[in-house]
Amino acid sequence: MPQILIVEDDQRIRESLAMRLADRGYSVETCQAAMPGVERAVSGEFDAVVLDLGLPDLDGEQALRMIRAVSAVPVIIATARDEEAAIVRLLDAGADDYVTKPFSADHLAARLRAVLRRSGPDEDNRQLTVGDLTIDLDSREVTLAGEKLDLKTKEFDLLAYLAERPGRVIRKRELLAAVWRQPYGGPDKTIDVHLSWIRKKLGESAAAPRFIHTERGVGVRLVDPAE
Ligand code: CA
Repeated sequence: MPQILIVEDDQRIRESLAMRLADRGYSVETCQAAMPGVERAVSGEFDAVVLDLGLPDLDGEQALRMIRAVSAVPVIIATARDEEAAIVRLLDAGADDYVTKPFSADHLAARLRAVLRRSGPDEDNRQLTVGDLTIDLDSREVTLAGEKLDLKTKEFDLLAYLAERPGRVIRKRELLAAVWRQPYGGPDKTIDVHLSWIRKKLGESAAAPRFIHTERGVGVRLVDPAE
């Protein structure tokens, strides 16, 4: 049973998340402030931490940096600030993922499953599957319907990043930060060009997408074409 720590000062949110995650098979402990939260988060007892950004005693970003200074425990940021700069900064500071309030317990559970899968003990089989697309994170081999695809380094990194977050619209800003390690801009066309190469190899196009869908002005998401 995965052990989850929730650090959240809002009692209603904290208790409802704890209850709903417990219903979904997680063992949940909660903290209502950042300092005790950081102390528990780095204890080595948890498989993942859900960290609220707006906490009374310490900014959530500082709390994240304190956790990251000593622990690699997966951290999902819960933010009310749907603000690109903050999100990019947090991903850069070592957050594994984020959810924007208000979010459902199902949504959070899906994010938790993804980070637990990425950090999980099952190191032998770090494989992502989306429809008939499989991505092996260790051998860096990608197959589509059993056929091996030849992807360049950044194409692979980009596709893997999207496939680890299926269904979620990912902002280009976030992709630049995560894949190219360029939090502050960089060439706009880089991502578009790489996406078009990946699409070609997947046998699709922007006009006729299967896996990779562009949300105009927002970002891209990867979906199972069968869903
Ligand atoms: Ca709060």
